[in-house]
Amino acid sequence: MAYDFDLFVIGAGSGGVRAARFAAGFGAKVAVAESRYLGGTCVNVGCVPKKLLVYGAHVADELEQAAGFGWTLEEGHFDWGTLIANKNREIERLNGIYRNLLVNSGVTLLQGHARITGAHEVEVEGQRYSAEHILIATGGWPQVPDIPGKELAITSNEAFYLKELPRRVLVVGGGYIAVEFAGIFQGLGADTTLLYRGDLFLRGFDGSVRTHLKEELQKRGLDLQFNADIQRIDQQADGSLKATLKDGRELVADCVFYATGRRPMLDNLGLENTGVELDNRGFIRVDDQYQTTEPSIIAIGDVIGRVQLTPVALAEGMAVARRLFKPEQYRPVDYQNIPTAVFSQPPIGTVGLTEEQALEAGHKVQIFESRFRAMKLTLTDIQEKTLMKLVVDAETDKVLGCHMVGPDAGEIIQGMGVALKAGATKQQFDETIGVHPTAAEEFVTMRTATR
Ligand code: FAD
Ligand code: NDP
Repeated sequence: MAYDFDLFVIGAGSGGVRAARFAAGFGAKVAVAESRYLGGTCVNVGCVPKKLLVYGAHVADELEQAAGFGWTLEEGHFDWGTLIANKNREIERLNGIYRNLLVNSGVTLLQGHARITGAHEVEVEGQRYSAEHILIATGGWPQVPDIPGKELAITSNEAFYLKELPRRVLVVGGGYIAVEFAGIFQGLGADTTLLYRGDLFLRGFDGSVRTHLKEELQKRGLDLQFNADIQRIDQQADGSLKATLKDGRELVADCVFYATGRRPMLDNLGLENTGVELDNRGFIRVDDQYQTTEPSIIAIGDVIGRVQLTPVALAEGMAVARRLFKPEQYRPVDYQNIPTAVFSQPPIGTVGLTEEQALEAGHKVQIFESRFRAMKLTLTDIQEKTLMKLVVDAETDKVLGCHMVGPDAGEIIQGMGVALKAGATKQQFDETIGVHPTAAEEFVTMRTATR
């Protein structure tokens, strides 16, 4: 049977665009439908605008440090409107780049909501298209617990478009987004409290990293409240929001920001017209080649809920394009040793096993840990400490994990990711000449195991 397209991609986000472009490059006839914004979450309401706001907040640190280097500055003034307008301009530029990337690679771009009407059929704006393969790359959406007053809260989607910087913010959650936005709001001058339901935020990260970041954020004056959760939110007569906690305490703020995880975006997608099944968390169930339970339908990225990171969605998109249209180049995605950063202030960089994971996996571990004041701060009064940690297998000498909290952690950990992928041993770390004077050299100069 002749189909309109070889591949019909739903969602022009990180994974969808990558799969579409490469499939078209391999000679396939490809369509992409996008209902909201080209580039998806990462470009519009994720990685990119977030990082721009983090840079904005970080300027406050630079200004604070300036005096130590002999600079006298007049009192600084921050204007939220300018930052958001400039950020929006940059996002629009990137939207245009994504459009060109798709169109120039020969992909048919359809604007509108796509709904699957059959195993090989998709409807967009009343028009039906047939395709040999359908790729679901519809991403995720913020999930707010069902509490009274939840409609008064915002999520990351709205935070990027706030008209004004709120004076007092309650951030709820203890994952990537909560920690990053707490740093943004606080860095830009808002009175910020982070509420997390457990004992310590960033569950799943290395224990030393979690404790170290907690201490550094507290030094910066961020109000961290653990074992705290909101029961209800009420608007008060003056427009402010009153959050009543489960323990009965009441906190007042101008903005309550929820970052309590993301659900798969399946709204009105028409999965009921297919044999696609969901897993027990509600994400699309796929096998190790991203094949759903409907043979003609594939799914990648946040909608499969495996690792919700842009470079992972990109890798999955690439793997699908190759498997379908260039099988001789197909390589499965390697989910081991994925480097990642949390752009908190200071940021976290991490790759490989945490100490806890290594022990749980039965490794006999040696830990190398170093805490030091970055050279840049020695001419200032700032007492922030950087943490670096290596988790090493005591029997094979292989480095199992690298973890860092400190300036440029994301930049530094990328290189460590290559070392771990190559299977580097601690001896090879030791034999690597450092770059002096940098913080990064600490990763190759930690000689004595701390435990
Ligand atoms: P998405 O990028 O979400 O794309 C899905 C697209 O599908 C969207 O454009 C959507 O409009 C469209 N769509 C949905 N349904 C339909 C439909 N029925 N019809 C047509 N179109 C549809 N990751 C990092 O690696 N680093 C970071 O620093 C980082 N920061 C983040 C910060 C925030 C605040 C958030 C929310 C996420 C962040 N992420 C980060 C995660 C990253 O954005 C996602 O992992 C990534 O975007 C997933 O890509 P995707 O292709 O699966 O989906
Ligand atoms: P995460 O899954 O990272 O964190 C969710 C947080 O919310 C956890 O602390 C969780 O607590 C808490 N939580 C969940 N449900 C509730 C509830 N009902 N009440 C109170 N607290 C709750 O989600 P995020 O929203 O922060 O981010 C989504 C994903 O996006 C991340 O996992 C990451 O993959 C990606 N991302 C990546 C970034 C980067 O690379 N820098 C930046 C931002 C996002 P508990 O731990 O107790 O379950």
